Amino acid sequence: MAKPPGSTSIAMRETEHEPFWRRLFARSGFGYAALDGKGHIVDANTAFLRPFAVTAASDLPDFTACVSPRDRAVLALAMRPSVAEQAPWEIRLQRPDGEEFWVLASFIEPPALSKESPGPALIVQTLDIDERKRNALELAERESRWNHALESAGQGVWDHDFARGDLFYSRQWRAIRGLQPDDPVEASLDAWIQSVHPDDRAHVLAQIARQETGEAAFSIFSYRERHRDGHWIWIESRGAVVEYGEDGKPSRIAGTDTDITERKEAEERLAQMSRRLELALDISRIGVFEVNLRTDEVRWDDRMIEIYGLTQAPDNATWERTLHPEDAPRALARVSEGILQGRDFANEFRIVRGDGEIRHIRGRAAPYVDMAGVPRLIGANWDATDDVRLQEELKRARDLAEARNEQLEAARARIEYTALHDHLTGLPNRRYLDAAIEGAAQDARQAGSRLAVLHIDLDRFKEINDTLGHIAGDRMLVHAARVLGELKGPDDFVARIGGDEFVFVSAGSAGRNLAMLAEAIVEAMRKPVTFNGHICRFGASVGIASQSGAAIDARQLLVNADLALYRAKNRGRSRHEFFTSDFQAQIIVNKQTADDILCGIEQRRFLPWYQPQFCARTLDIFGVETLARWDHPTRGILTPDTFLKIAEDLDCVAMIDRTVLEASLADFAEWERLGVGIGKISANVSSKRLHDPELAHSLRTLDIRPKSLSFELLESIFLDDCDRTVLENLAEMRKLGIDIEIDDFGTGHASIVSLMKLRPRRLKIDRQLVKPVVRSPGQRKLVGTIVEIGRSLNIEVIAEGVETPAHIAIMRDLGCDILQGYALARPMPADAIPGFVERQEWRVHAGNAHDLQNEIRRAISR
Ligand code: C2E
Ligand code: CA
Ligand code: CA
Repeated sequence: MAKPPGSTSIAMRETEHEPFWRRLFARSGFGYAALDGKGHIVDANTAFLRPFAVTAASDLPDFTACVSPRDRAVLALAMRPSVAEQAPWEIRLQRPDGEEFWVLASFIEPPALSKESPGPALIVQTLDIDERKRNALELAERESRWNHALESAGQGVWDHDFARGDLFYSRQWRAIRGLQPDDPVEASLDAWIQSVHPDDRAHVLAQIARQETGEAAFSIFSYRERHRDGHWIWIESRGAVVEYGEDGKPSRIAGTDTDITERKEAEERLAQMSRRLELALDISRIGVFEVNLRTDEVRWDDRMIEIYGLTQAPDNATWERTLHPEDAPRALARVSEGILQGRDFANEFRIVRGDGEIRHIRGRAAPYVDMAGVPRLIGANWDATDDVRLQEELKRARDLAEARNEQLEAARARIEYTALHDHLTGLPNRRYLDAAIEGAAQDARQAGSRLAVLHIDLDRFKEINDTLGHIAGDRMLVHAARVLGELKGPDDFVARIGGDEFVFVSAGSAGRNLAMLAEAIVEAMRKPVTFNGHICRFGASVGIASQSGAAIDARQLLVNADLALYRAKNRGRSRHEFFTSDFQAQIIVNKQTADDILCGIEQRRFLPWYQPQFCARTLDIFGVETLARWDHPTRGILTPDTFLKIAEDLDCVAMIDRTVLEASLADFAEWERLGVGIGKISANVSSKRLHDPELAHSLRTLDIRPKSLSFELLESIFLDDCDRTVLENLAEMRKLGIDIEIDDFGTGHASIVSLMKLRPRRLKIDRQLVKPVVRSPGQRKLVGTIVEIGRSLNIEVIAEGVETPAHIAIMRDLGCDILQGYALARPMPADAIPGFVERQEWRVHAGNAHDLQNEIRRAISR
């Protein structure tokens, strides 16, 4: 072997002093290299040189350069004198081509050879461990890679080597359980099993037993173990037998533990959710279907099948055939559209079931693409028939209710209309007026304008009603309403408020002549109306009241117009009157009087006074006329002019008549008893009383001796009057032997015909005709004619108002039968009568009259 030139001198020197170890290593399998103090390799054996593919040490660089750069740090440590000999070092040497190989290196400091040539500073002994080292590294590498993979996958590694009594648990295995890397792990099974959930212990123990007995080479099971924090974690344990002992039993088992708590919880949630869903579907009777849109394969759950009344799931075509023909096109279009748009959609349609029953189905479906990329449609159907029918039922009910409401509304409007209108004339009624006039008053107050009320009362309406019947009366009212309607302006309001009473409200009548309006009404009402061939004449009286601006009081206006009407009627009818404040004062007085009158009637303060009547020829007392007097508590004895009119308005004259009649019958009976010699009494009967259907009955209850009583009826009563009640009352009077006398004859218009029809017992020539006879020959002629008529009809004639002896003389001369007047006697109370009769004083006056009579006769005949 050729020596490298660099090493020759050393080798020369070494040869001289060749140390023993040189020979020891010459043929050794261990490598040998000697280094000088500077680290140069001064000597090396073949085993050392071979891996470097050189033959002489001088071919090698410094030792440091022969070591892999990666191990040079280790080398520096290893070559330190203090540690050099401590242990062999595993280091990598490096060949010139860069390839490395592992050696086990020991460093020895040899003793100095001699002072002049001390020899090498360090001896390196190497053992080639390259292959073993590489194998070991590879294994370790492989193991650590696995571990790493398992650990990073969250799997804890465990390794039970029973043969060596070695139990290994990886970091992750510990982390799963909340253990730190150096926390002790419970080695005894008995102790460890306590940390397993009680419900899982038996199962876990059985699994471990199976593993350890070798029953199963591989096992996987899950259980709950308590985490160090106290909560339960789910663990999935996988284990496999890795080595078997000589007895054939497993001697080493290794595996992984995985924390599957989250998965378990997810599974639990899923299970719960599907339980709920199942329950919900079941309760709500919702069926679920799924269609593979590529193959048209259909999957239905039992509820779907039930809803469609089938026994098994149909294919898609069958489903389409179940659709109601009217709904199919729309329902199918909806499905296509939904799938096309890739959005969930609702649908509603009818189906015809196998048994022919029609059901309403509602549904919702959503297209989706599954994991395999297959387009599918998933959806739910439910039977909405009851719902739809209920809706239909509700709609019908609602329509019905609406229709009914309309009817009710119409009825209500009708009722309201009737409640506010007079059915005969169609005019607003009293209620309507009350409401409307308040509104009009409000408006006028705000506008500061005038509001007028015309109260209209038909004259003689009652007579038409009584004589021609109610139909005629109705016709007249309708006529009157039409007349008022024609006169009504746009702002006016006309109402019928009672039998024959109307109210005309004239709003905004500032520039209107109310008198002209009233006159127009009176004029129009005066025009005759024909009914069934009869010409009916009636008229109207109008009372007017008006107010302006803020002072307007609707109620007061109505009252005032009524008062004005009252005056219009009193002043002769067929006319109008304005309400004025002075007659309001009058009204107040009348009101007081009216109250007093009613009180007086109650207290029987109306009593008869008597005015004697005399036979014109003999001047004997013929009888007495009863005249009502009011014995007023403060004003003394009052004559009829103070109360009769008001009593008439109060409608209580009949009551006064009756009181007076009863009292006079009593007086008459008393005179009879005393033998005073009053032949008869004549009482005044008001026209009201004559029209009273009760009169006949009331007379029958009185004790009336025939021919002792006569009734004075006003001539005006007989004007065309043929009221049935009046005729009946007259007949009854005749039956009771009561004479009828016509009072105030000559002032009214009683025709001879009606006179003949009525056949009264006597006529009383009115005072107004009697009075002028003294001075007027024409008047004397008129009275003479009346006497003639009476005589020809066999009716006695009475002259009233005989005031002077001249009157006595003339009336006697003209042929009057009976005389009455101040010239002979004034009215007197009942108790004055006997004395008056006894004194016979009137004959003195009459005597004067006798002389006067002759005088007058002479004067006239001249
Ligand atoms: P009359 O029926 O014409 O009664 C006669 C009236 O003439 C009485 O007035 C009487 O006092 C008055 N008188 C009698 N002689 C004369 C005379 O010579 N000259 C004048 N100027 N007058 C004379 P009186 O009592 O005030 O009665 C007025 C009217 O009241 C009566 O008029 C009668 O229509 C009515 N009246 C009186 N009493 C009653 C009654 O009880 N019932 C009814 N319904 N009316 C009565
Ligand atoms: Ca009279
Ligand atoms: Ca009279």
